[in-house]
Amino acid sequence: MQPDPVAATAAYIDGLGADNLARALAYTTGGHWLLLWNLLVSGVVCWVIVRMGLLDRVEARFSARGPGVRSFVVGIVYFLSSAVLALPWSIYSSWWRESTYHRTAQPLSDFLMQNGLGTLLGAVLGALFFSGVFALMRRTGPRWWIWSAGLTAGSAALLLLLAPVVIEPMFNEYRPVPAGEVRDAIVVLATRAGVPEDRIFVYDGSRQSNNFTANAGGIGASARIAVSDVAWKGASLDEVKAVTGHEIGHYVLGHTWRAFGMITVLAVLFFFLIDRGFATFVRLFGARASLASPAGLPVVLFMASLCGLLGTPVANAFGRFGETEADRYSLDTVGLPDALASALVKTAEYRYPRPSALEEAIFYDHPSVQRRVGMAMQWKAAHPVH
Ligand SMILES: [Zn+2]
Repeated sequence: MQPDPVAATAAYIDGLGADNLARALAYTTGGHWLLLWNLLVSGVVCWVIVRMGLLDRVEARFSARGPGVRSFVVGIVYFLSSAVLALPWSIYSSWWRESTYHRTAQPLSDFLMQNGLGTLLGAVLGALFFSGVFALMRRTGPRWWIWSAGLTAGSAALLLLLAPVVIEPMFNEYRPVPAGEVRDAIVVLATRAGVPEDRIFVYDGSRQSNNFTANAGGIGASARIAVSDVAWKGASLDEVKAVTGHEIGHYVLGHTWRAFGMITVLAVLFFFLIDRGFATFVRLFGARASLASPAGLPVVLFMASLCGLLGTPVANAFGRFGETEADRYSLDTVGLPDALASALVKTAEYRYPRPSALEEAIFYDHPSVQRRVGMAMQWKAAHPVH
């Protein structure tokens, strides 16, 4: 007789134990508050830099140079100085808090080194991007925001293409899946789905995080599936199959392309809002910069943080939709509902499995583990083994 899906789901979640559930709840709820504090920190950083007049001075100093050089230098100075100002907060939110909850074992020195590398890389790429945006403002007139959304789409495509090849290997080591029965099982799944087997990697995710996780990324020739060594070591053969089936689902269903489409649409909306709202926010921060002046960059980026926060529920709904599709793909192609469920329960350590419906709608970029395990158990009940 098939067990009741609701009872089976509850048994999976309860299997975590009361202490683990309480810790997951505290960690997850605290993480939601971090979103608000992040915005506050970005507002304070923006205000301090505007009040110091730092970027006005940099702009004046480079006044004899071309506008492209000027906006690039202003961008670099802004991204680096804001990262320095926000460093105590980054250490607290991204390292200390993670360590306290045993989500990471990364030494502070390694965190700081990788954080520094990320900041440098972000500063160069961010400054290049905004130099492009300021050039479009100068050259394309009142429709600059449409052109800037186009630039965002081009940059996002380039980043998606290059990230697995150039950027991610700077932070982690990606290796082909080691030979053995697990690899053989993955090759069968990948071949059936038309995914080249050499596009599946194991990476040392344990360097930064104890999270049980895997992801599908890249586009075109760089498209790949990567499984963290935490998941690789902590999963049974069936769990690896179920999780890989989920990631192959993302790959086969073209979710990266879909995300790219969404970035493009959001960019049109974002730059339109900048065009209309910049003057108001400049006054709020007591700055004098005009929209076309690179010294107004902190205000533009604060508006980006605000739009990011307000857009979170929309992006999350979009993410949850794709995750449900990938779970369904795994169930339909791999057909291991219990292995999928037990693997999902391991992600409940960092995503509280029983949020309220409202909390899930606003904050969860994946459906709750309860909902996902519930779907696996429904699937199991509908597909009895004979
Ligand atoms: Zn997924």
